Amino acid sequence: MGRGLKPDFQFFAVTDFDSAWLRANRIKGLLLDMDNTIVPWRGAEVSAAVLAWARELRAGGLKACIVSNSRYPAKVARVGAALGFPYLHRARKPRQGGFRAGRALLGLGPEEVLVVGDQLFTDILGGNRGRMRTCLICPIARPEFIGTTLLRLLERAAGRPPGFQQNGPAITK
Ligand SMILES: [Mg+2]
Repeated sequence: MGRGLKPDFQFFAVTDFDSAWLRANRIKGLLLDMDNTIVPWRGAEVSAAVLAWARELRAGGLKACIVSNSRYPAKVARVGAALGFPYLHRARKPRQGGFRAGRALLGLGPEEVLVVGDQLFTDILGGNRGRMRTCLICPIARPEFIGTTLLRLLERAAGRPPGFQQNGPAITK
């Protein structure tokens, strides 16, 4: 189980894991960050690769819910509809309310879900606090919201590696 700011797993992108890997790790559902995890921060266009990834997860019996801190419900709804996943906006991660609501939508306990996101101080910290497993993804695009840029500097100070090897293996602690 990850602790504090340390994720259980790291991948370059969400498309670097599939339903077979999730099943092998006894994960039944994902709580997915949206901005810079499944779409670029500035965009709402879901790539063909991510759409195919979501289809493969559904076909493999995996559940997923978007749990986003975004203040733009229309964007979150558009991305959720494109992926075929339920969605929540203004989740206020790392607080637990949004994660709990997402798990309730999926009908899964904390030990059955994986929190996936690109930020240590929201996605990973919140997931670890909720006793869920956590997966850190390399952010899709820059530039980011100025507050996020400041958080990145703090993440480096907290020991986040500056980059990930594309298609590298999952890193488990
Ligand atoms: Mg994000």
